[in-house]
Amino acid sequence: MSSETILTINNLTKKYGHITAVKDLSFTIEKGNVYGILGPNGSGKSTTLGIVLNVVNKTLGDFHWFDGNVSTHEALKRVGAIIERPNFYPYMTAIQNLKLVCKIKGVSQDKIEEKLKIVGLLERKNSKFRTYSLGMKQRLAIASALLNDPEILILDEPTNGLDPEGIHSIREIIKKIASQGTTILLASHLLDEVEKVCSHVVILRKGEKLYGGRVDEMVASHGFFELKSEANGELVQLLESHNAFGKITTEGDLITAFLNQPLKSNELNKLLFEKGIVLSHLVQRKESLEEQFLTITQNQSN
Ligand code: ADP
Ligand code: MG
Repeated sequence: MSSETILTINNLTKKYGHITAVKDLSFTIEKGNVYGILGPNGSGKSTTLGIVLNVVNKTLGDFHWFDGNVSTHEALKRVGAIIERPNFYPYMTAIQNLKLVCKIKGVSQDKIEEKLKIVGLLERKNSKFRTYSLGMKQRLAIASALLNDPEILILDEPTNGLDPEGIHSIREIIKKIASQGTTILLASHLLDEVEKVCSHVVILRKGEKLYGGRVDEMVASHGFFELKSEANGELVQLLESHNAFGKITTEGDLITAFLNQPLKSNELNKLLFEKGIVLSHLVQRKESLEEQFLTITQNQSN
């Protein structure tokens, strides 16, 4: 599979006085994927976005857009970004506001209706901005960022402050834009947002990358079995002697056996039955992204 690099970040560091907001951060963004920068408040997400968008000066390291042969200024004409609260003229309509954005950006006004349609605001195109809900304002900001047909759309905490319906609608719009081929980079402190929307994730803590890669490969975890039987003592012995299993814990009559390598539930059931153990309970589970996230962050010192 051929890939095209949109953004390359090498050993980026940003210091504000004695605070290191971003520390030796490296990652690349390939065309067509949806990337999440995930981390708690203050972990350096907005600073990272600010640096690559030329609104924050880096301290050390470097980054380049596309193949590295264009200036950042030129490259940013091919980027759409929303890193602040949507800010439009309250007494102007959506159309009027977007026409103004086109003039400022020097792009054609032909695509205004097409972009309003993508974000579901076409019917409200002649309503004044001040009559919009926060969710609609955010959707208008997305339409605005799409006016130059960007190759990548960058969003900083796009669902912050929205109600559940507003959150759902923004996530659906992001997925739709991604499915049409636009690369996405979004910063979020919400695990479930990254899990629902992103194919790839960079996890930050205190400005440092803890993990970078596919969301579905976040931890090389094979999951675990929850088991019960009439002969738990014998069962634990068998599991301990089987090389597929690592840690085994017992709580009351429930045994939890963690896998070191793949093993299917029907294989385990057959194997145990052949050894004379009849299970009364068999559940195979994988850790949720949340549990994996906690494992990753807890494995780091301080
Ligand atoms: P996030 O977006 O993940 O919440 P930020 O990038 O905003 O994190 O902040 C990272 C760290 O840098 C925090 O400790 C924050 O207080 C600090 N910081 C961010 N912007 C500034 C600034 N302009 N001046 C001083 N410190 C800042
Ligand atoms: Mg932020």
